[in-house]
Formats: sequence, structure tokens, C-alpha cells
Amino acid sequence: MQIRKITAYKVDLPLHEGSYKWSGGNSVTVFDSTVVAIETDAGITGHGEVCPLGPAYLPAYAAGARTGMAELAPGLLGLDPCELGILNRRMDQLMRGHPYVKSAIDMACWDILGQATGQPVVTLLGGRHAADFALYRAISQDTPEAMAASVARYREEGYTKFQLKVGGDPDTDIDRIHAVRALLRRGDVLVADANTGWRQHEAMRVAAAVRDTDVYIEQPCLSYEECLAVRRHTDRPFVLDELIDELGMVLRGVEDQAMDVINLKISKVGGLTKARQIRDLCVSLGIAMTIEDTWGGDIITAAIAHLAHSTPPEFLFTATDFNSYVTVSIAHGAPQRQNGRLAAPQAPGLGTTPKPEALGPPVFSIGK
Ligand code: MG
Repeated sequence: MQIRKITAYKVDLPLHEGSYKWSGGNSVTVFDSTVVAIETDAGITGHGEVCPLGPAYLPAYAAGARTGMAELAPGLLGLDPCELGILNRRMDQLMRGHPYVKSAIDMACWDILGQATGQPVVTLLGGRHAADFALYRAISQDTPEAMAASVARYREEGYTKFQLKVGGDPDTDIDRIHAVRALLRRGDVLVADANTGWRQHEAMRVAAAVRDTDVYIEQPCLSYEECLAVRRHTDRPFVLDELIDELGMVLRGVEDQAMDVINLKISKVGGLTKARQIRDLCVSLGIAMTIEDTWGGDIITAAIAHLAHSTPPEFLFTATDFNSYVTVSIAHGAPQRQNGRLAAPQAPGLGTTPKPEALGPPVFSIGK
């Protein structure tokens, strides 16, 4: 089988809540997502998606994903999309770094491999470990009262895991954590995610103030050294996210005992192939994972579900259903949250079929 044509589409994904706010005054109102279609000479077409959380979150932005894919595409024509190792090696030879540019292409080729073999991607990634898995809900930064009200509302919908967007004024962040924990119940999980937003001294203050609160601290500061210093001064369980952008960082973090959990985002590490490698390493090393992406619609939600569902449950800290945050559905067959839980689709490949009317005209089309 050979790749014949690569086409990209720009899709706008507005939010049900109107906007999503996190540390440093950052916010997004409409997500700019990119869907890629890879056509083959066997008549099979695979789809992938990439959706950076705006340009201020990671070294990634939506127009950059499209420009990068157009740069890569001519060098991928003629490759066998089922040979994922060769495909990823070629992408890394053609373009150094830029993992998010490669993610949707890799994802689309997993979709093709699944369709070609008649298997859902979850089976190819190791198999379905349970009936379904528990999701978390990200709570946009707001006043402590508003965030507590939001948590109460989503708890009614079945969620039991919550990730508060903190990383703002430390005193307000302490209030946010206390206000939300007070209404949660035994077994519920609370994560305070600062998204790199605290200086080291601020993170130390917050960690000290929540010493007796059942809460996880996620990525308090920008640099590894700052995060490690905070980690060594708190006994709260600790998550690293933005810093974990490749396998080597996982090994470094394990060596330093820098975290208990990592946040594994598919596009942050370059696609499902590399995310699976990190996932399997974390299972071997005893590190639990939040499995998700920087954002996305139906196709990314399906890819997350396949990777999360094939992860041993004791190592799957939680995962995300981004398609329930956005107002637009771009594909049929995507998994839908039920009572705060999700399951990978049963159909071959990713199990999603894009809706042509949702994609609109292509941004580029390379090959024939
Ligand atoms: Mg995070």
C-alpha cells in the first residue's frame, strides 16, 4: 500500500462554556483544529487531527501545523502508511523536531493500519483492558466560587476527577483548591494544574498551604529545575506535563524521582507511535499517566480513547473527552462520554468518519 495524497482541512471548534482560561491570563474562545486525510492506492483513507492549545501553551500553533504538514507531505508520498516505524523515521529525517506537525499524519496512518487489518486501533495498541475508563474535567480558571460551582455541575454529570486551572495569584489559587476539595467526596480526584504559571516561591507557598488537602500538584513552574525544587519540598503527589515532551524527559524525571504521574499528550510527543512508546515505558517503570492531547474534536478524542483504553487501568490516572467541550461535531463514530466515562470505538481504525460539511474546502492537497 502506498500514500497517494495528503489533504489538510482547518476546522473551528467553539466551546460550550464560551472560553477556556488557564495560567498567565491565557484563554481560547474558538479552537483552531486541523484534520488531515491520507489517501492510499488501496482505496483506504485515514484521518488524523491536531489542535494546539493556542500559540502560548507549547511551542506549537495551528497555522504552523498546517505549514509543517505541507512541507512534509511531498516526502511521504509513496511510503507504506502501515509501516509506521519507517514513516516516523522519514518524518524525523525530513524535519527536525516539531512533533506536533507529525502527530496528525502518524494518527491518520494508524487509522489506515486499523482499516487495512480490520482491527480497531485499541487492539493494535495492546487491547481493551476494561469496559471503559474514567475521564477528568478541566475547570477553566475563574473565582473560587465559580470554579466550585462548575465542579459541582460536572460532578452531577458523572465526573469524579477534576483538574483546576490555577497558576494565577497564589492566595486565590489556595482558595480555589480549598473551595473545590471541600465539596468533593472520598474517592474523588483533584488536581491543581498551574500550567507553568507560578514562580518557584509562589509554588512553595501554595504547596505548603495545601499540605493537609488531598490534591495533586501539576506542572507548577516553567523549568525542570524549579519543578524539581518544588517537588522536593512537598509531599503532595506530583504531575509533570509541559516538560514531558519526549521519552528522554521521562527517563530524566524517573531518575530524579521528579514526578509520580506524567501527562501524556499525543501531539506533544509527535503522534500515537511515540506516545505508545512512552506509555509502555511508563507502565514498565511504574509511572501513571493522564492520556490526552493539547485539545481537539472527534478524531483526537477517538485517538485518546484508543490509547487510554489500551493502557493498564492502574497506570491510567485519567483521560479527556475533548469532543464534549466543543460545540461542533466533525466526525461520525466518535466516542461519547457516558456518566464521566469513555470507551474506544469498536470499528476498524480510529472508528471515526469525518463529516464533509464540517471540514469545508481543503487548505492544501498534495499528491493525486
Ligand atoms: Mg496539564
